[in-house]
Amino acid sequence: MDTARRNDGAMYECLLFDMDDTLYPLSTGLNLACRKNIQDYMLEHLHMEESQVPKMCLDLYKEYGTTMAGLKALDYEFDNDDFHAYVHGRLPYDKLKPDLVLRNLLLSMPQRKIIFTNADQTHAVEVLKRLGLEECFEGIICFETLNPPKQVNNESDSRILCKPSVEAIEAAIRIADVDPKKTIFFDDSARNIASGKVAGLHTVIVGCSDLVPGADYALRSIHNIKEALPELWEAEECDGHQVIKSPAVETMVQA
Ligand SMILES: [Mg+2]
Repeated sequence: MDTARRNDGAMYECLLFDMDDTLYPLSTGLNLACRKNIQDYMLEHLHMEESQVPKMCLDLYKEYGTTMAGLKALDYEFDNDDFHAYVHGRLPYDKLKPDLVLRNLLLSMPQRKIIFTNADQTHAVEVLKRLGLEECFEGIICFETLNPPKQVNNESDSRILCKPSVEAIEAAIRIADVDPKKTIFFDDSARNIASGKVAGLHTVIVGCSDLVPGADYALRSIHNIKEALPELWEAEECDGHQVIKSPAVETMVQA
């Protein structure tokens, strides 16, 4: 029995966390505010027809993973940093409060923990700071990680790599240098979860109580993680070895 528990607990070596609407609830309103800012950007900077903007924003998001990726695929020309500064720069970050419960949960888990977000680094760092979670993750895989300047500036390929493409998830697995069979992926997006499963990850849909296709677990809130996955803590009890935690959040770059 002891051996079985040991195998169970050591099953997971790494936890990949989406950030927005996964580490904090949708009810903060950041998501809505972000969408409004994207639509304003499409109007003001890309001079699109006002009546078409809301539908196009949503259609591109559905088709390409992010509206930004869709705009690039349609050959709209704009600076990625300008776009991110515009849509995230005016977000109501004061709605995000330090989450000590989540912080303690994360710090008590022995596995490696990495953020995997489609957002840019500035936004990711700001959100983690506001939530008081900066020390909980060894690194951040974000827009800049998956889309380094060299690739973005290549005119023949302005394609943006982002979730839910399986290719983006496989890139994150490679950059984090993890075994997908020993990694759990947490995300609030059903399509990201479906792709995560295709990439071979264990998956947890966050923010709803019902399983979605490709999800192994469903958590209404990330705060329920210990009730749903107690084996994550058993690993520490069984193995007895300490995992060294990096004190600072760093952006992981592709080697
Ligand atoms: Mg999300």
